[in-house]
Amino acid sequence: MTKSLEIPRKHFIEQLIADHPTIPPEAIVKEDLLRGGVAFSDDALRVAVGMQPKSYFIFSFDMIPIKEMGQRREDLSAPEEICLTGGPGHFRRTIVSVRINPHSPYRVEIDAEGRLVLAIQAGGNGDGTTDPRRDPLCEVQYRPRPSYYDRTLSSGRPLDEVAPNIEWGYLLYLTVYRKCQYFGFEEECQFCDINENYRQQISAGRPYQIVKTPEEILEALAIIAETDQEARAYTVTGGSITSKLRGQTEADFYERYPLAIEKRFPRRWISKLVVQALPLDDVKRFKDAGVQIYHPNYEIWDDRLFGIICAGKNRYVGREEWHRRIVDAAGVFGPDQVIPNFVAGIEMAKPYGFHEVEDAIASTAEGLEFFMSQGIKPRFTTWCPEPLSVLGKTNPQGAPLLYHVRLLETYHRILRKYKLTPPPGYGEPGIGKAVFSVSAFMDCF
Ligand code: SF4
Repeated sequence: MTKSLEIPRKHFIEQLIADHPTIPPEAIVKEDLLRGGVAFSDDALRVAVGMQPKSYFIFSFDMIPIKEMGQRREDLSAPEEICLTGGPGHFRRTIVSVRINPHSPYRVEIDAEGRLVLAIQAGGNGDGTTDPRRDPLCEVQYRPRPSYYDRTLSSGRPLDEVAPNIEWGYLLYLTVYRKCQYFGFEEECQFCDINENYRQQISAGRPYQIVKTPEEILEALAIIAETDQEARAYTVTGGSITSKLRGQTEADFYERYPLAIEKRFPRRWISKLVVQALPLDDVKRFKDAGVQIYHPNYEIWDDRLFGIICAGKNRYVGREEWHRRIVDAAGVFGPDQVIPNFVAGIEMAKPYGFHEVEDAIASTAEGLEFFMSQGIKPRFTTWCPEPLSVLGKTNPQGAPLLYHVRLLETYHRILRKYKLTPPPGYGEPGIGKAVFSVSAFMDCF
């Protein structure tokens, strides 16, 4: 057997923190938790009972499928997010989306004093086979379960399935179509498990619904409006519609939701829409419907990799046209209100991606320059290599943590170069204040 040369994760992290002094240590740990997941002890899962659970708001965002979770059923018991705070590392409050991985070097557990802590693997050779000693890094908090999570619609549908929240309560996440029409033609984005996750959740008995109607969304939001003071924004999203869904095009289908919400609850929350980069006339309709922030996600910058990893988007719209539509949308909404997402790390996915971190960063930086020089601020989600996605199968380790740390440095360098402010609709920026949970870019202002 070949002996692993990896060093314990704790020592690796300490070195990375020392080498990158402009990035908060909490942000480095957060990126590592997002790229590689977190485990929970049985006691830590027991403490999570009655707190806000994982809602599987769109993708699985886990490192193992539900059928491999066995008796522990972390899919039912793990929290949506964890808050890292205090402890030996003196962490400032940091909110992290939970991505379950029982083999992670990080584990949420209960310490000798009965506190919930995040422990990191501190002994052995890094593969967990020898000396699995762990040291506590910081304390952990779970978010209390919102009272409306126990309510149901008149149809009997549970509210936490219809309108869950993330980002520590800041964002209501309305996935109104739980499938994507790129699947079935081998044109789905290769990092994406939306349809596979739908299937596994249905098999596991979760009351998932493929399509939610505007009426159901309004009924859910009426309950939330009465009982919740914390949400500041909502996102309407779902899979792409390349032909028709119930007789409607993508623009027809998705436009109805902000239209109905803004008519009933005008400007109660910041209105966001995540759909494809659609033609200008459709984009104007979204603006007229009351959408305030438009997310036409470009996923990855590199020309060759976009064609491979986003084959459907490449065929249906095309990379250059996609970018042109993003820039055109900035003319409708204003550049500040157009925030295209990319999936950080897929640039390095085998077998197609860059081999070297600096090559991947140079490519990503080219895209950031393109958009930021025009006042458009992309944002990113840290890639979670879900095992039910194409790339997750071949890349269970995700991208190297160094890529994610270098991206934080690069993103903020280019943002500063163009004197851009934090993007709107994400709450307060900065370490100790940010709530955006699926990457650390807001923690680094
Ligand atoms: S367009 Fe791509 S990322 Fe979006 S749901 Fe479809 S396959 Fe997934």
